[in-house]
Amino acid sequence: MYPKTFKKLIDHFASLPSVGPKMAERLVIYLFKQNSEKIQDFAQTLGELKTNLKYCKKCFNISEGEICSICSDPSRDQKTVCVVEEPLDIFAIEKTRKFNGLYHVLGGVIEPVSSNDKLKISELETRVKNDGISEVILATNPTTEGDATALYVARALKPYQANVTRLARGLSTGGDIEYADELTLGSAILNRK
Ligand SMILES: [Zn+2]
Repeated sequence: MYPKTFKKLIDHFASLPSVGPKMAERLVIYLFKQNSEKIQDFAQTLGELKTNLKYCKKCFNISEGEICSICSDPSRDQKTVCVVEEPLDIFAIEKTRKFNGLYHVLGGVIEPVSSNDKLKISELETRVKNDGISEVILATNPTTEGDATALYVARALKPYQANVTRLARGLSTGGDIEYADELTLGSAILNRK
């Protein structure tokens, strides 16, 4: 019943997180009503997503170059690393302006059934070992999985000199760093232990 292109776009949108089929329909209609210039720009930017953006080779943040702007900023504290689950957590912590060190993105949390090879834990160990890191702040989400992951990473870092801290509580349990308000997240960073 839908025209082919219309149907194809709806399927694309409906496959995105938090977008249901009804919302997908509305988005496609909305886009159809926009002028071609806007749609061209949208399509072009979307096309550039995988060519212009990559993971930083050092911290696995989203980056336009091989090394992200945070890793390549000499004014940042090179001896402190904040470990997060996903790149979006970095944006949330940066907004608080309470942290001036470097980051390390794990790329998810520990899952009991899988091998967890995809998590960048050995890469973190290499950084801690080779870059003289003095403090590692575990800023995984305050969820069961996030806590288990923090524990796992802390154990992996035991053999090294670095002081390992965890974000202070105050972040609501089961919550998500990405959605924490700036004040709460900022004080969780300052009161880490
Ligand atoms: Zn980086």
